[in-house]
Amino acid sequence: MLSSGDGRTAVVTGGARGIGAAIAAGLAQDGMAIAIFDTRRAEGQSVAARICEDGGRALAIEVDVTDTGAVADAVLGARQHFGQIDVLVNNAGWDELRPFLDTDEAFWEQVIDVNLKGALRTTQAILPEMVQRRWGRLVNIGSDAGRVGSSLESVYSGAKGGIIAFTKAMAREVARYGVTANVVCPGPTDTPLLRESAAKHEKAEAVLAAMTRAVPMRRLARPEEVATAVRFFAAEETGYITGQTLSVSGGLTMA
Ligand code: NDP
Repeated sequence: MLSSGDGRTAVVTGGARGIGAAIAAGLAQDGMAIAIFDTRRAEGQSVAARICEDGGRALAIEVDVTDTGAVADAVLGARQHFGQIDVLVNNAGWDELRPFLDTDEAFWEQVIDVNLKGALRTTQAILPEMVQRRWGRLVNIGSDAGRVGSSLESVYSGAKGGIIAFTKAMAREVARYGVTANVVCPGPTDTPLLRESAAKHEKAEAVLAAMTRAVPMRRLARPEEVATAVRFFAAEETGYITGQTLSVSGGLTMA
């Protein structure tokens, strides 16, 4: 059993649904106050309301992580409400399944802006207080696509590979200040994003079936299973683990 996160506050980007909502609920169960940063206002508010009904503390802030000014305002809002931020989970992400040759520069910009630069913005806004207090946990959500590549997800794979490398470099820079930085890489996980991106493909069912077949455990992950790994890296006791990349993917990758 890991000790409780009582007194700590976590920011979870993309916390309004899918994996992020499970992370928010899981960290709240561990005793942390939660600030949900998401473009989806109503869904974010209902995740926060559920946490509060269960006796936790949570706040939803509508923010687009591709907007530097909006991120600064959201961080200020979270600090004003909870006092300080101890844990940052960069989970907001987006993709659409497309062969690389069918993509254009506007699509590349969008994928990189959300999946890679989004994490850079929040990290730059929140990390200084962790360094100052000599305690912090940065947990970035990568993807197995970023470890081994994924067909129809070339730009996304590049952005997620970037997240993994960025996290390792951050881990080195801030280790001496008691701040850890780690990556959790989900494999195919049953979320709205996965179902929406498969649905846009002409052979949606076949795409989902192929994803499932590729997983040695022959099923999609549940968001809560990914959240478990995030809770581990966010815990008090895992302060000597940094720069690591952990796949939660039913054995899909064993890199
Ligand atoms: P979902 O789309 O189901 O949930 C993500 C949430 O993030 C949505 O509410 C979404 O809102 C929000 N979001 C997206 N872009 C932004 C933004 N610019 N600013 C703020 N919020 C934003 O996704 P998942 O739960 O599936 O994915 C979570 C993470 O896990 C992502 O980083 C994804 O890349 C990663 N992942 C997912 C896998 C899967 O199979 N599901 C596999 C591997 C990695 P909106 O929809 O309005 O944009």
